[in-house]
Amino acid sequence: MNQYHTPNSLRELQQNIEAIQQHIATICQRVGRDPAQVRLLPVTKTLPAQRVAQAYAAGLSCFGENKVLEAKGKYEALQHLPIRWQLIGHLQSNKVKYMTKFIDEFHALDSLRLAEKLNQRLLLEQRQLTVFVQVNTSNEQSKFGVRPEQALPLIEQCQAFSQLNIVGLMTLAIHSQNEVEVRRCFQSLRQLREEIQQHYPNVQRLSMGMSSDYEIALEEGATDIRVGQAIFGARALPDSYYWSE
Ligand SMILES: *Cc1c(COP(=O)(O)O)cnc(C)c1O
Repeated sequence: MNQYHTPNSLRELQQNIEAIQQHIATICQRVGRDPAQVRLLPVTKTLPAQRVAQAYAAGLSCFGENKVLEAKGKYEALQHLPIRWQLIGHLQSNKVKYMTKFIDEFHALDSLRLAEKLNQRLLLEQRQLTVFVQVNTSNEQSKFGVRPEQALPLIEQCQAFSQLNIVGLMTLAIHSQNEVEVRRCFQSLRQLREEIQQHYPNVQRLSMGMSSDYEIALEEGATDIRVGQAIFGARALPDSYYWSE
């Protein structure tokens, strides 16, 4: 468990959101960035649909989930609300069929085979998908994502896929208390984006930073921060539990 406070009312939820937005503004000001260029993506994994509905009432309307079937259940329960769903976790290709109907954004593309399957299915459904390529910047076995040197070739090969719109890169920093090591992961993602932009100027966004490290991520140029616990309170189980397949 950790220090994150679980809001007990709509008011408290709004206060958590406001505090984070304020914090984002303060960090951006300190490093000379425009906070309007930063998107806070609330992560609702493990929360029941009812709490997502409460978050909608608090003013949020895009939510990140890391498992497709869990996301699908909430999408179905909350179809009456104009929510945009983003899948931020690893996707097995046999689960593509569950996600293409309702997911608007996918932050964890990590193979050509998966891109191919996604594109095929999206063609059938006549939908487009906004995509981030997940890069393993920490070299940890436990993390998904392509190796940094594989990102450009993958993006090159994905140009053939009409339904995929690759807008950026995503990473999870090393699991460490050492700020220098965490920062190094974010820096290497940004550097990779600079290289890729020479060839693909539309690859602009950096999805990086979560509750424990979004301050560092913002300092290093994050445009999309994925925050769960700092908004909704501590989760009972460690992340390794949710990140396994
Ligand atoms: C859970 C999760 C997050 C958010 O983590 P918090 O600690 O709740 O902020 C971010 N990214 C991914 C891929 C996740 O699975």
